[in-house]
Amino acid sequence: MLKHNLEDVERRIALACKRANRKREEVTLVAVSKTKPLEMVEEVFDLGILEFGENKVQEMVDKYERIKSPVHWHLIGHLQTNKVKYIVDKTVLIHSVDSLKLANQIQKEAEKRNCIVPILIEVNIAKEETKFGVTKEETLPLIEEVAKLPNIRVCGLMTSAPFVEDPEENRVYFRELHELFVDIRQKNIDNIDMKILSMGMTNDFEVAIEEGSTMVRIGTAIFGARNYKIKGES
Ligand SMILES: *Cc1c(COP(=O)(O)O)cnc(C)c1O
Repeated sequence: MLKHNLEDVERRIALACKRANRKREEVTLVAVSKTKPLEMVEEVFDLGILEFGENKVQEMVDKYERIKSPVHWHLIGHLQTNKVKYIVDKTVLIHSVDSLKLANQIQKEAEKRNCIVPILIEVNIAKEETKFGVTKEETLPLIEEVAKLPNIRVCGLMTSAPFVEDPEENRVYFRELHELFVDIRQKNIDNIDMKILSMGMTNDFEVAIEEGSTMVRIGTAIFGARNYKIKGES
């Protein structure tokens, strides 16, 4: 099942790249393994996927400690300042930085461990009340502050678009975030390396790729539907 799912996702990514006149190598696939067992992560790793996303600190740390394969862990969910210490040296990329307070805490913990932490700034581009992330207007001012923190490297922007029936509805948001991404990149701010635009999930990744995404975070289409009830999560 996983092999078949992954092949299907790969085929759809390739087709979206082709439609947008982009190279397949421009888009990184992050397999979102939240709520799924380690055996499935290992199986997907063996099928050639290196990047995996988790949205909860505890679950990421748990999988980090138990897994045998050298996978790259991405923290894609909301991060509380008091949990930064558990993951700063275990993740290749934190996708969800949305405040200076959180960035300062990452700086503090990274300095202790003498490491550089790559991060993305999460933008709530559709201004959804239920979502984390800074507004479009707050993005550049936050980046200018985070740029001063020596143990953090801002690598780009991330968003989770609204859940919609028709992914075309999200095209306008992906386009808007891509424009912001390019605008900020052109400023060539010191210590800022705008190279990653993390947008697109199972429901809308093809549209996101057509609009310039360089990193798609795909869970359901690879691992199947999640059963939160069994896991006791909400
Ligand atoms: C769960 C999750 C995803 C993947 O969602 P699917 O719809 O299953 O592909 C992507 N990004 C974030 C931040 C998530 O929490």
